[in-house]
Amino acid sequence: MTSAYVNPLRDDQDRRLPQIAGPCSVTIFGITGDLATRKLIPAIYDLANRGLLPPGFSLIGFARQDLDLDGFIKLAYEAAKSRARTPFREEVWKQLEAGIRFVRGDFSDDLAFAELARTIAAVDDERGTGGNHAFYLSIPPGFFPQVVGQLKEHGLAEVSDGSWRRVVIEKPFGHDLASAKELNKIVSDVFPRESVFRIDHYLGKETVQNILAFRFANGMFEPIWNSNYIDHVQITMAEDIGIGGRAGYFDGIGAARDVIQNHLLQLMALVAMEEPVSFNAYSLRIEKQKVLASARTPERIDLHTARAQYTAGWAGGEHVAGYLEEADIPATSTTETYAAIRLDVDTRRWAGVPFYLRAGKRLGRRVTEVAVVFKRAPHQPFTKTATEELGQNALVMRIQPDEGVTLRFGSKVPGTAMEIRDVNMDFAYGGSFVESSPEAYERLILDVLLGEPPLFPQHEEVELSWEILDPIIEKWSRSSKIDTYESGTWGPASADAMIARDGRTWRRP
Ligand code: NAD
Repeated sequence: MTSAYVNPLRDDQDRRLPQIAGPCSVTIFGITGDLATRKLIPAIYDLANRGLLPPGFSLIGFARQDLDLDGFIKLAYEAAKSRARTPFREEVWKQLEAGIRFVRGDFSDDLAFAELARTIAAVDDERGTGGNHAFYLSIPPGFFPQVVGQLKEHGLAEVSDGSWRRVVIEKPFGHDLASAKELNKIVSDVFPRESVFRIDHYLGKETVQNILAFRFANGMFEPIWNSNYIDHVQITMAEDIGIGGRAGYFDGIGAARDVIQNHLLQLMALVAMEEPVSFNAYSLRIEKQKVLASARTPERIDLHTARAQYTAGWAGGEHVAGYLEEADIPATSTTETYAAIRLDVDTRRWAGVPFYLRAGKRLGRRVTEVAVVFKRAPHQPFTKTATEELGQNALVMRIQPDEGVTLRFGSKVPGTAMEIRDVNMDFAYGGSFVESSPEAYERLILDVLLGEPPLFPQHEEVELSWEILDPIIEKWSRSSKIDTYESGTWGPASADAMIARDGRTWRRP
């Protein structure tokens, strides 16, 4: 079986040195938006500063704001200077600035897209970008079809002479299975499969890629990575902030669609998958897909899921409003700001090992982690009191912040005849590596320009994820009642009850 993605030669490359992108441009739609100014422009600067962009690289901003080229350059300069990860150097900026172009217009404006087509032809002449152009849709998802349609209409998706055109789509990829399929149809009518890059920025994080290194480069973890030794897995994405200014986006979407469908299910797939034949996109996708296809949505959604909204409380030393009091949130909203779900993966490796996924806003602390909790030793040759304080062994992969890995196990308390308590053995990135981790968007944008697809989910994974979630969201939507939890706590009582039914408790990270 083959796929356009299989490229065996690339698997033999020396992957230690970063590759430099060939001649190309990136057009960012929604360039004045939150994501573009906070993450994308700074990441492009950082790539330039690391010498990973080609000399003739061109950044084209597309926005409807009342800006001209100088105004856009100023905006981009400020975004890069204030938010770049690497030191800001004027000479690097000057080089980048020479390739900046700007097109003003609405997504419905044919003239603006005609202008974009002329601009792109001009950068091929002036900058030597060779017909290689990426289009980054950093825009509200409702506009994806319109912009993709405009790209087609104006011939911007057409390639010639071995050049490439690629489209980058930000999550959310639909809001349920049907809309995800519809979106895929629209995009794949215009761009071939290998030219579509769906961003799940979690996959660009070093700590997420390290799950693969941790599992498959080492000899000592994989033998116990199964239901003989593992009791259950908890995947947590906790935020301490509320919805902030994103009411318009978040209300009606909720935590399950916002982060479980993509980030948390991708993390689950990486933790649960079998060893891939290689790390090319095709092999990785096959293994992740098998996990998602084997994941079973609970039959008793009422017993094995929980959803809730935060109420007023204390967070970070200040008193904060509840979800229903936030600006622009309707008083009748039942959108969940917290969601917890039990999934079972029906494979020999994972039979009987539940995966608990939870995500929430206004929780006790900002933390994303994967905790693999082990079964207790089959026999304890100690008195009962000696092991009273001993918990279950756990391996915790900290995705963010404090990136690292912790192993929790029991140890004798010094000075006692025999008392055993939990201790931690800790690996922190900062302590072992001098290099700082690139931002996820640096890696992902560079991969788009290089045409490297392994870190981008394919539409099959997106659709399988919606298949898992759709029945849960549908069941939730039938009730106008929603639980609550106080801001700054670790979620609703119903989530504690949900996991307690299985004889387990949530970790307090
Ligand atoms: P945003 O609302 O801040 O920015 C959207 C941009 O699109 C704005 O510049 C706006 O002017 C422009 N726009 C909207 N309608 C337009 C039209 N008709 N014509 C021309 N321009 C138009 O949104 P954002 O937060 O930057 O998010 C962009 C995308 O990235 C979304 O798909 C979002 O789901 C995704 N995303 C955002 C974040 C984040 O941290 N902000 C994180 C992950 C994913």
